[in-house]
Amino acid sequence: MAILDIVQDGDLVLAKKCTRVTTFDAKLRKLVDDMFETMYYANGVGLAANQIGLPLRLIVIDVPPDAEDRQRGFKIAMANPEIVRLEGEETTPEGCLSVKGWVGDVQRGYRVEVKGLALMPNGQWKEQKVKAHGFLARAFQHECDHLNGVLYTSRVTDITTLHKIERSEEEVEQLRQQLSELRESANAGAAKDTGALMASLRVMSFNIRGANYPDGVNAWPARAALNVATIQQYGPDLIGLQEVQADNLTYYRQHLPAYQFAPGPQYNNTEPYDYVALAWRPERLQLLHAGGFWLSPQPAHYSGPAWGAVQVRSANWARFELVQGGQQFVHLNTHLDYISEQAQVEGTKLILSQLAGVRGGLPALVTGDFNCNPDSEPHALFLAAGYQDSYITLGNRDDLADPTSYTTHYFLGDGYRPQDFHGSGRIDWLLTSGALTPTSYAVARDAQPPAYPSDHYPVLVEFSLG
Ligand SMILES: [Zn+2]
Repeated sequence: MAILDIVQDGDLVLAKKCTRVTTFDAKLRKLVDDMFETMYYANGVGLAANQIGLPLRLIVIDVPPDAEDRQRGFKIAMANPEIVRLEGEETTPEGCLSVKGWVGDVQRGYRVEVKGLALMPNGQWKEQKVKAHGFLARAFQHECDHLNGVLYTSRVTDITTLHKIERSEEEVEQLRQQLSELRESANAGAAKDTGALMASLRVMSFNIRGANYPDGVNAWPARAALNVATIQQYGPDLIGLQEVQADNLTYYRQHLPAYQFAPGPQYNNTEPYDYVALAWRPERLQLLHAGGFWLSPQPAHYSGPAWGAVQVRSANWARFELVQGGQQFVHLNTHLDYISEQAQVEGTKLILSQLAGVRGGLPALVTGDFNCNPDSEPHALFLAAGYQDSYITLGNRDDLADPTSYTTHYFLGDGYRPQDFHGSGRIDWLLTSGALTPTSYAVARDAQPPAYPSDHYPVLVEFSLG
């Protein structure tokens, strides 16, 4: 990374309407890194590309959390941003890295909605809509103005409010320190906002339904392409897959070249066996160690079903390290029996005790199809062991009458009614313990009825890693 020179007021590039970004390559990502570095060094919270002399529609913003305004910290790099909604107004002092040492009162919209291509943790640019208010909304408006060749000084409400602020070297250093501490604490503790965070991890839990079932229009050969397209659309860094059979895996290996796979121990009583496979992007995660066990009194050996289960079941785990950042965590993926409550409870106890040994002091992530609702004993056991359920942590409430909470649908989509199928509603969970903080939760309902990617919906959670 490099710290670049910030162009000062008077330079023509600041008065220019910038051109749209059309090439999204490694050079652009490097430019983003340099812009963040430059902005941090200058104690700024936003920077537009023409401020470093490049008339491109590209901005970076990193606003530290503001407890007073009940704002969370927010970091984003966005290409071709567009303000699509502006509401309310607020007049407060504003400054600019290109008008060094000056501040003045500017009236801005209080709420904005900004649309553009945001740089995602996987290095890809994705169309995003961001809603913001207060200081963050102001930052978006200020940076978008830059892209149209407008400086805040031309918007100053009352020219007499424009004044010079002198800061000693010491004060500047102190300010730099304060800003970096604020940002660090936001990264470690309180969750940042959704979407385009640089140090976050996107995880999917997905029961994909084995390839060897007579599912008619939803038989695997008919829905495999839709299934893969759904995974690609969301581009998770890590996936806990359930019910993977050999033919599913062969197709994935051919059509998802960006992923590596660890099938883990086979389950089900006869061929074709199932796997609670893990899939991850090696560009983001490095596999350090992997293992697995069976949910039975002899966890180290494949044997017949135990504890009243219909099938013998398994769990698959791996220890990963973030390629950028170096944080480590353990991920365990499982699929509990669908009939025996005893097998669900004993399986959960076994998972908790094995995981405690495997993870040491590392953060842990558990994904799975638990085949029971969150009012069940397995769910209570996880919470009692200090795990948090991402869905609940993010403020959602369980309500079996609320179809948007269901994660399974038996290929019926919106026509699914839990009462017809063992009352199953939200049975796919993403649970964490330690410094893995969920920041957003979504159930991906993409489908082409009567064809569906699977008989479960994939569940997506974005985490920030401390
Ligand atoms: Zn500025």
